[in-house]
Amino acid sequence: MLELRASKIGGCVRAYILDLRDPAEDVVTPRQQLYFDVGKCLEPVIMKHSGYHASMLFGDEVEVRVDLGNGLVLTGHPDSANGDLVIECKTMRSFAYRMMEKNGFKTQFPQYLMQGSVYCRGLDKAGVKYLCLDKDASHIKEIIVPWSTLEPYFEKAVANARTIHRWVDKKRLPGKDEALAPWYCSAAYCRHTDCRYHFVNRNERNKAWKSKKK
Ligand code: SF4
Repeated sequence: MLELRASKIGGCVRAYILDLRDPAEDVVTPRQQLYFDVGKCLEPVIMKHSGYHASMLFGDEVEVRVDLGNGLVLTGHPDSANGDLVIECKTMRSFAYRMMEKNGFKTQFPQYLMQGSVYCRGLDKAGVKYLCLDKDASHIKEIIVPWSTLEPYFEKAVANARTIHRWVDKKRLPGKDEALAPWYCSAAYCRHTDCRYHFVNRNERNKAWKSKKK
């Protein structure tokens, strides 16, 4: 049985495969961990300022499991639910928030839509309400995304899961998903510095190439 996390399924498939091949090394970067921890601390605050009681947060006791067959399962822990909607609290810097306002939630955060689509399917809800906090400006924007919009993201989540399932036991790796935002490959977000797409690795290769030319 292969269990894949909804929170990671919208990220880099190559990175997920590498994490699974070496579970002892499946650790987040310190910067990612701090980001997650701060986000977790702010969830009750976001709920309160959006008109919900913090006690509505599920914590870890509610787990979603979506069985894709052939021993493949998508799992995750949604933040909360109210009526027909899953509730997801998202914390972001002003820069990301402004980009979201400019480009739209779908363009800026497709990984959140994939994560939410799995929760929506797993809890059999009509959509997801994202509560997006701009940390710098102290402002919360509510974005409701219905299942009709989430469904293609769910299909992409399933496709990513099947790709990971197919490649995890092979020696080679699938290519980089060109739709992935470039920052995914930076040292702050990806620990796979030996991947040929990694920023640090590319810089090191450039440096080595330049020193050879001297
Ligand atoms: S460097 Fe980029 S393509 Fe390579 S594993 Fe990391 S996120 Fe994926």
